Amino acid sequence: MSAIDTLWEYVAVAVGLLVILGGLAVGLLRGRGGKTKELPPSARRDGSSDGTGTGSGGTTTLDRETSAPTDTLPPPAERTEPREETLPPPPVRPTIETPDAPVGRLKRLRARLARSNTALGKGLLALLSGGRLDEAAWEEVEDTLLAADLGVEATTELVDRLRTKVAVEGSTDEATVKGWLRGELLTLVDPSLDRSIASSRVDGRPAVILVVGVNGTGKTTTVGKLARVLVAEDKDVVLGAADTFRAAAADQLQTWGERVGVATIRSDREGADPAAVAFDAVKGATEMEADVVLIDTAGRLHNKVGLMDELGKVKRVIEKQSPIDEVLLVLDATTGQNGLRQAEVFGDVVGVTGIVLTKLDGTAKGGIVVAVQRQLGVPVKLVGLGEGPDDLAPFDPEAFVDAILD
Ligand code: GDP
Repeated sequence: MSAIDTLWEYVAVAVGLLVILGGLAVGLLRGRGGKTKELPPSARRDGSSDGTGTGSGGTTTLDRETSAPTDTLPPPAERTEPREETLPPPPVRPTIETPDAPVGRLKRLRARLARSNTALGKGLLALLSGGRLDEAAWEEVEDTLLAADLGVEATTELVDRLRTKVAVEGSTDEATVKGWLRGELLTLVDPSLDRSIASSRVDGRPAVILVVGVNGTGKTTTVGKLARVLVAEDKDVVLGAADTFRAAAADQLQTWGERVGVATIRSDREGADPAAVAFDAVKGATEMEADVVLIDTAGRLHNKVGLMDELGKVKRVIEKQSPIDEVLLVLDATTGQNGLRQAEVFGDVVGVTGIVLTKLDGTAKGGIVVAVQRQLGVPVKLVGLGEGPDDLAPFDPEAFVDAILD
């Protein structure tokens, strides 16, 4: 073998070795690249994958942490962003509250009522048991009752009856006078009126309660508080947010509902047709087999004709599907005669079946209870005595009169 042949043999062996080494290197590189491709997107989003194979563990944790299905994750372009900035916050589940039992609430809250109506009760007692009752004293009694918004008719009736009693019995000692006053005030408030609220299923469908009133009277708050009263009575309640004029009203109502585990049917669009929302609420409550659906409505008074047309439509549209069992008119007790005029207008359009008097804690005008019942011919069924969630009480005539006189 020549020296040239030996040299060629060496060259051939060296080339062979280079080819083998090159092949091995390419194979190794491919292996690493393949692993990266297989990593799940979520693992790459949080940067937990470093190509060492721990990526799949990261995916599991991430999915569990967010409870979001993988197919809802953003496209690959966003995946390099840090997790804290891209993931939505975990949903906050509100704690379900247990509302106070409604029975006897007015008794428990009587201090609120008494505080604002002490002037009425104490003033009357002082005048009537103060010895000789001359004309000036009777006039003062009248003025006190009128100032408490009892209304002219009821005031005249009450003073006439008391004058007769004093003339016949001839006594003005405080205990006797208090007894008379209690009896006469109770007669005016009328304990015989049916103050129950239609909140049980009727003929296999939910009871429908429409809540109306001028904005600012406490209407939405009252719907929220009433939901609590009904939940405390073990009713299945659904709320309908048909006050679509004020965007915040639906949120406000939903929050009230969530606190006691009650669903709210609403539109997310400001200015949506309130009649359509009311219709959907009744439909939803029927499908959910609820006991009762409470429908909040808008109460813009700047355009009275428009408001009344709208309410009339809400009523008609609901009635295509179900009768309305209760129409509650919310009135702010501090607005006095103005509130009474509003009440008449609503009464004409939607046929009010019960009054809710709010803000009785902030007024000495408790006589409005009597005046509004007389004017509308419908009973006060609930009274608002504060801003707390359970400060709405079923109206109890005895507790009310006692709170004024004690
Ligand atoms: P809406 O516009 O008629 O729906 O009125 P809201 O429900 O938004 O209530 C208006 C304000 O009245 C809120 O600040 C309520 O907390 C307040 N409010 C409602 N009811 C009562 C009540 O009985 N007493 C007091 N003091 N405030 C009340």
